[in-house]
Amino acid sequence: MSSAVVVSSENLDEKQQSVSTPVVHAAEKKVNLLGMSRAELEKFFEDLGEKKFRAGQVMKWVHQYFVTDFAEMSNISGKLREKLEKICEIKAPEVVHRNYSKDGTRKWVFRVGDGEGSLVETVLIPAEDKTGARKTLCISSQVGCALDCSFCSTGKQGFQRDLTPAEIIGQLWMANYSYMEDVPVAERERTVTNVVMMGMGEPLLNYDAVLSSMQLMLDDFAYGMSKRRVTLSTSGVVPKIDQLAQDIDVALAISLHAPNDELRNELVPINKKYPLQQLIAACQRYLAKDGNESSRRHVTIEYVMLDGVNDKPEHAQQLLKLLKNLPSKINLIPFNPFPHAPYGRSSRNRIIAFQKTLSDAGFVCTIRQTRGDDIDAACGQLVGQVADRTRRAEQWKKKVAQRQEILRTQG
Ligand code: SAH
Ligand code: SF4
Repeated sequence: MSSAVVVSSENLDEKQQSVSTPVVHAAEKKVNLLGMSRAELEKFFEDLGEKKFRAGQVMKWVHQYFVTDFAEMSNISGKLREKLEKICEIKAPEVVHRNYSKDGTRKWVFRVGDGEGSLVETVLIPAEDKTGARKTLCISSQVGCALDCSFCSTGKQGFQRDLTPAEIIGQLWMANYSYMEDVPVAERERTVTNVVMMGMGEPLLNYDAVLSSMQLMLDDFAYGMSKRRVTLSTSGVVPKIDQLAQDIDVALAISLHAPNDELRNELVPINKKYPLQQLIAACQRYLAKDGNESSRRHVTIEYVMLDGVNDKPEHAQQLLKLLKNLPSKINLIPFNPFPHAPYGRSSRNRIIAFQKTLSDAGFVCTIRQTRGDDIDAACGQLVGQVADRTRRAEQWKKKVAQRQEILRTQG
């Protein structure tokens, strides 16, 4: 199987084009090993009558050396490689569009499944911090989202379907691979340092697939990421926060966006089912479980700044009270406008004043950078553009066909 992404860039700094992707077009019924956790892969090999340790070997080839062709897996016997080629494959989702910005931001749009409209996006944002070069990947968990938050373009697209584990981990695989495709296999490394489940969809409503993908992120045979560097973001599916606490140790972010139930019911409708008091209590329980572990010292509170809606001094005061007993860091997110959005972005001064109130009270409060604005599309907007383009291309094709038909009948 070839793993080469086809790129013909006119401008090397700024790659933005539709691409036909790598990986594999094998017979339909082959089992895709890409999304399997270690336990699942061990069972797979045992069922084949093979030793369990083969799982770790294959995982390393796939997730650390980005090899998708069994023929290249040199520590596996020729006979087993042949067998694997017949019955399974390693297949990442198809990239239909990608965009590499000058500031280092990278975005991909993947087609998942067969539907033209089934598109999800993944964004990589580089940054320098005290630990060195950080590369944070924002991963999607669903096509669309059912929760319909009023400021979110993904919510406006409605829910289409859950992503499979292969489609979720495939985003991380592809982002890492994008830095390594020209590097000899033996020298390849994992480049992405942090993952945030903050792309399209509500990760806790696709629980099993997200859990097994995060297990792969932490697994030393796969991405071996530190649990502090994998963050799950949720709008507040309370029972699933409790389940997560039992199942895995990752950092938790809460999309709060409002400091009282009345406003939150409007902005984040799932609040009607799990109001603030329940949500804060669930966060406290999450932190209480292994609370001295570094990934569970605090939750991150995400708060989108909507002009005149949730950004007033009284909102900052209410937020202080609400978070009084919850160890938390607050991240203020300047609203990212999209066509027909019912909100505007708070002014810089408003955001800074809001931040000051929270910092003065002792909270660590940051303002999210809006870098990569040349291709920026937080939460679903790039997908919108591609979908529009596809629709427009369809309309254009129809028009051309009509014209040809007219010419034919006239001529
Ligand atoms: N469903 C999950 C994860 C995906 S949304 C959640 O809601 O947490 C990732 C983050 O982007 C959330 O904090 C969300 O509220 C925020 N977001 C959504 N639309 C936005 C917009 N237009 N501008 C800025 N942030 C937005
Ligand atoms: Fe869904 Fe999150 Fe967007 Fe709300 S903010 S609609 S939960 S993706």
